[in-house]
Amino acid sequence: MISNPLGKVLRARQGRRGFLRAWVTGAGAAVGAVTGRGLLTSTASAQTPAANPPLPDAPGNTLVRMQREVDTALARPAASRRWTMVIDPRKCIGCQACVIACRAENVVGPVGSYRRVPQAEVGAYPSMANVFMPANCVQCDDPPCARAVPAGMIQKRPDGIVQFDYTQLKGPHAAAAAAACPYRAVHVDDGRYFTDGTPRHEAYESRTFAEYGGAWRRGQQLTGVARKCHFCAHRLEAGELPACVTTCIGGAMFFGDAADANSLASLLVKDNRTIRIHEELGIQPRVYYIEDKLPQGRHYSCATCH
Ligand code: SF4
Repeated sequence: MISNPLGKVLRARQGRRGFLRAWVTGAGAAVGAVTGRGLLTSTASAQTPAANPPLPDAPGNTLVRMQREVDTALARPAASRRWTMVIDPRKCIGCQACVIACRAENVVGPVGSYRRVPQAEVGAYPSMANVFMPANCVQCDDPPCARAVPAGMIQKRPDGIVQFDYTQLKGPHAAAAAAACPYRAVHVDDGRYFTDGTPRHEAYESRTFAEYGGAWRRGQQLTGVARKCHFCAHRLEAGELPACVTTCIGGAMFFGDAADANSLASLLVKDNRTIRIHEELGIQPRVYYIEDKLPQGRHYSCATCH
């Protein structure tokens, strides 16, 4: 029995999770048409979702605060949102919980991942430390991956999420997108399962899942297709924070609307010295890392961990 404030939030959200489940088990088209929330169509982000259940007061609980800010942002047109991720490496303990949550949420096979947590040793004996820098697609405003493939296969959504067209981004186009990404954030689904060589594939790895407004299953449908993080767009459209953010036990992951100057994500960027990896390329990544007071008090270059 969950009894803390976040538990109340999670219970309040079960209706929407049920909504998602209803869709991924096959009732999607009907549900989308009835609710008009737009979860199920590629134009979802342009629609205004229905009002979400109220959140409890939970002073100091950043997850509840960020969830509330997602609700506020969703009430506005997609083009006026600016989804942004802020990562605090000082709080990351390298547990990989976010990676596991991401893989489970987005049904990724044993080869490739939407997320990784690179680790670097800094300093010299006896003053050494480990720094972890969780990494995923940074939803570039000018994505090199999109420039590497024919127009339309990769699109920048109004809310800033970079969307892959799974029906086209295959074979050589998938390889080109992966090669063009300076963050190594794209992998090509090779169709393998964790349980290859065993009597059967498990339900968790062959289930239908939601991405980019469609219903997908690994195997023939996605083998050879380029895949990457999309800030859990399907969760956002259902009023949920990205899976990595809700799972981070160190409290290192933050998410919100940078168009809202008072959102936690905006304030973290404003109040801390931050870096954006490969900012020098001019591609305007939407993931910030807090750099203040990292171990050794040094300025980190991207090459420290990536
Ligand atoms: Fe494309 Fe890589 Fe930028 Fe993501 S991080 S938008 S995959 S170039």
